[in-house]
Order: sequence, then structure tokens, then C-alpha cells
Amino acid sequence: MISETIKQDGPVKQGMLANVMRQFEHAADSIELNPNIRKILSITNNELVVHFPVKMDSGEIEVFTGYRVQHNNALGPYKGGLRYHPTVDLDAARALAMWMTWKTALAGLPYGGAKGGIQIDPKKYSSAELERITRRFTYALGDNIGPELDIPAPDVNTNSQTMAWILDTYMSTRTPNERSKNLHVVTGKPIGAGGSEGRDRATGFGVFLTVKFWAEQEKLDLKGKTFIVQGFGNVGYWASWFLEREGAKLIAVQDVTGTYYNKEGISVDALNDYQKSAGSLEGYSNATLMANDKFFGTDCDICIPAALGNQITASNAHVIKAKVIAEGANGPTDIDAEEVLLQKDITIIPDILCNSGGVIGSYFEWLQNRNGEIWTMEEVMEKLEKKLKTSFDRVMSVSQERGVDTRTAAFMIAIERLEQAYLQRGIFP
Ligand code: NAD
Repeated sequence: MISETIKQDGPVKQGMLANVMRQFEHAADSIELNPNIRKILSITNNELVVHFPVKMDSGEIEVFTGYRVQHNNALGPYKGGLRYHPTVDLDAARALAMWMTWKTALAGLPYGGAKGGIQIDPKKYSSAELERITRRFTYALGDNIGPELDIPAPDVNTNSQTMAWILDTYMSTRTPNERSKNLHVVTGKPIGAGGSEGRDRATGFGVFLTVKFWAEQEKLDLKGKTFIVQGFGNVGYWASWFLEREGAKLIAVQDVTGTYYNKEGISVDALNDYQKSAGSLEGYSNATLMANDKFFGTDCDICIPAALGNQITASNAHVIKAKVIAEGANGPTDIDAEEVLLQKDITIIPDILCNSGGVIGSYFEWLQNRNGEIWTMEEVMEKLEKKLKTSFDRVMSVSQERGVDTRTAAFMIAIERLEQAYLQRGIFP
């Protein structure tokens, strides 16, 4: 079924893959993971690389490279986002797919983990070109995705529109009798195309909730607390929006164009309106432009990395002043930085917990599509909060009971769930 399988041999490259492997190994050691199960979980199940031609507006043909890595499906269909970014490659997709496996297992969802994308800078293409690129990529993925097999969702530089194009292409290439059965081949769709209320804000809402749960645990009031956000896209914006509503103050924000600072506070809605009209944060006048490398050292209570991986490293971890780091992004903190942060007694709400609101929201959308149901925003948000609270409490109690950091605790819960599934079912044949 998978048209091109690439074996993972040789030493792992430094970067996100090395990072997720070290996190996994550490947690696996802590639970004395069955060595046979460790072998299975250390490697991805399937890796697909596709090269496909697309006609550009100029009439020229450009050939693109797309990826889909399926790490593990012991607990259910593969699930994970599609990213359009120049840094997308096989190793990045492997790392992000692994994180998805741990994330869905921790959340108690009937899913495995996958990730993929296209190695492009989408800013260089027109909307019509992006539509053709997306549709042709979907066609190239063919039967390697499917509503009960592998369900993509939005990630960096992809959104509900991207999902609508994928859905339409996938449905259009089925036989007439099969078409309407496939609404849940992707999640994060626009409401009119089978999307769910609340999915747009689910990840950011989840990031906010985990910060709120942490504050409750620490007996802190979020009112008046200051926060900084790296990345003002889907995750960064919604996390900021909910935090501001709770009385916290956004004082620094960074996007791909620069870092913007205002110690009196930056209005989240005003910033979002500006971004919508200007296309980025560049030129935002109600804040001062600050050097990018000063961002993480900003004096604040809460730090939310919500852009790319490997942003907090040994070179900047020591300057962080926040009391808590809420990882909206996947893999924003590398292992060396984590040691520094733990020594400084900074709490980390690990990515597989902190940003799991997104995949939980996706699960709700998938369920509604599958069962022909439509839930209200209130129902979705209420169910999301309940599920996330359960995960948060479990991570915190395992961390305390077993004397491990929060990330290791989250990984331990996820890996134990997978280990149990394998041990009970055995290995075919
Ligand atoms: P997005 O494309 O909507 O926004 C990305 C933001 O990051 C933009 O503001 C962009 O300018 C900024 N950015 C990009 N490169 C940067 C750089 N080098 N320095 C500073 N800022 C930079 O993406 P998103 O959907 O918000 O995803 C953000 C992160 O959250 C990713 O790590 C993603 O994997 C993770 N995540 C997303 C979801 C989801 O539902 N969208 C779910 C879970 C995790």
C-alpha cells in the first residue's frame, strides 16, 4: 500500500527526531518498557515520499515533494497534521508523527500518530496555485490516507481551506456510492464543509486551559499575569485570546517578521485585526520592535512557544524568566534546554498535553461526521475541557507519585497505554 518505504538506518540526525527519541528513551527507561515493544515504538510503521507535478499560474510546471509518515496505529487510525514549510523533510515528519502517537495515547483517543506536509514556502504561491498543489498532493497520497486509516488535519501554514480542498479531491476520486462516506477523511474543515464548531480554536483553547489548570494548582490568579507568545497563528492567537479574556496581559509577541513588545499590554483583537489586513505583524505600531533573540528573556509570568520546534535551546533557556512554559508548538524545547529549565524550577506543560486540545477537537469532528451528528459550540468546549482536565490531572499526579518531570510523566502514561495494547493483543502472526 505504501508506495515508497525508506528504512531508518544510520545514526539519527540532530534535531527534532533526536529530541523526540531522547524523550521516548528516557520515559521508556523509567517504566522499564518491555524491550520488544520498545523496538516497535522506536521506529515508524510507514514512510511515504511523493514527487508530483503542478502547473503554475505562469504555465510552467513545478515538481513538489510531499511526505506522510505513519508512526504507529496500535490504538486506532493514524492521525496528524499536514505542514507546508521549507523545513518539512522526512526526519521532521518522523519526529512530529511520533509526538502524535504519544499525544493521542495520552488523551485516551482511539488514534495512532502520523504527520506530513510539503516542503514549500507557501507565501511564494498564489491561492490558485496552493489549491492545485494541495489537490495534486492529495491525489498522490491516494489510498494511503482514509477516514478509517489516516486522517490529516491543519498544521503550520495549512488551515480549514486546505482541508476543504483535500476533502473535495478525496471525495471526487471515490466511486459515486462511496463519496458521502468520506467526510471524516480530514478534520479541521470549515463548518459548511463538515467541520465542527470550536475546532478552529480547540488547540489554543487547550493551551489556555492547561495554563488555567496550572494556575489553579499553584493557587495563582491569572488576572494581571503577563505572557509572551512566539507565533501568532492559529494556536498563538487563540491561546492569547482566551488568556486575555481571563485578565492576563500579552506583553510580547513574535512572528516570522519580528518581535513586538509593549509592557502596557498588546490588545489581542487589535493585533489580530492588524494581521488580517497586513498579512503579518510587520509594522504593528502599538508595540516596539525588539531584537528576536531578546524574546525569550522577556520578564513575564507565562511563556507560550506556538511556532516551530527547537526554539528553546541550551543557548537561550538560561535567560527565561517565566514561571511556566506552555508548549503550544510541537517540540519547541530541546532536551538540553529542558535540563536548564528544570534546574531553574520552571514548570513545563509538555506539548503532548498542552496542545492536545487540537486533536481532541479533531476527534469530536470525526465522531460527528461518522455518526451524522452536529454538536453545538458549548457542547464541544465543555467536552474538551473535561477531557483535558482528566489528562492534566493524570500527568500531574504521575509526576508527583513517581517523582519525574511533567514531560516524562506524560510520555510514561502514553507509552504504558501502547505497551498494554501490544501485550494484550500479541504480535501477528
Ligand atoms: P500557523 O501557520 O497558523 O502559525 C504559525 C505562526 O508561527 C505564524 O505566526 C508564523 O509567523 C510564526 N512563525 C513561523 N516561523 C517562525 C519563526 N522562525 N519565529 C517566530 N515565529 C515564527 O501554525 P499553527 O497551526 O498555529 O501551529 C503552530 C504550532 O502549533 C506548530 O508547532 C504546530 O505543529 C503546533 N500545533 C498546531 C495545532 C493546530 O491545530 N493548528 C495543533 C497542535 C499543535
